[in-house]
Amino acid sequence: MEWDALLRKKHSIHISGSNVPSPLQNFAELGLRYGCKPYLLRNLAELGFKEPTPIQRQAIPVLLSGRECFACAPTGSGKTLAFVCPMLMKLKHASKDGVRAVIICPTRELAAQTTRECKKLAKGKKFYIKLMTKQLLQSADFSKLPCDVLVSTPLRLKFAISKRKLDLSRVEYLVLDESDKLFELGLVEQVDSVVKACSNPSIIRSLFSATLPDSVEELARTIMHDAVRVIIGRKNS
Ligand code: ADP
Ligand code: MG
Repeated sequence: MEWDALLRKKHSIHISGSNVPSPLQNFAELGLRYGCKPYLLRNLAELGFKEPTPIQRQAIPVLLSGRECFACAPTGSGKTLAFVCPMLMKLKHASKDGVRAVIICPTRELAAQTTRECKKLAKGKKFYIKLMTKQLLQSADFSKLPCDVLVSTPLRLKFAISKRKLDLSRVEYLVLDESDKLFELGLVEQVDSVVKACSNPSIIRSLFSATLPDSVEELARTIMHDAVRVIIGRKNS
């Protein structure tokens, strides 16, 4: 068996899609193969992350290759880092050119937690990482604030878009986190309007989930075109 296949087998990584990049053997490979900056490697080490988790091994190279990703891995398996790490690498530096990355979370608590994770990983680098709060939404100059990464529930994003307070046309990186919960909570319509507002044709979309109900598969099919599918362990386990 070839090396990639062996590594995938070892970590129960199941893939589908064409030309799927090799899984990571370790975090050092991020620097050696993908030009990851020292600040990020240092933050991983300081957080005590020695080995990538299975979802990180495969989803990070997929997203770094500019491919769309549909990822399913159990709760607690490190999905946040799997999308935040390639996001920070793609953004490279802070900028004042409007919102460049959006992470959609089903609840405010999860959005707040994801924002904290992003900030920890970005430590030492001046990215503008913002949680969409009610106050932020109500501030008059909201649309002019520098913002590299915006983390939000779909409802608040939809509201901001409809009030013309938010321009998402430059977003390069869009994540739907916990997409199974987005469905359970009936938030798909809001998600749809956010996906539409992110009109940049070169956007990289990804969808992360802990389970794989048909509704999530269907959403993945409608919003992504040439996505690599990464599933860890068994379906619905
Ligand atoms: P999920 O979104 O899949 O439920 P999280 O991204 O919330 O999981 O991660 C669960 C926990 O694992 C967090 O406390 C996180 O800091 C930790 N973690 C993430 N990646 C690693 C890693 N490579 N090594 C050790 N711990 C990790
Ligand atoms: Mg998560």
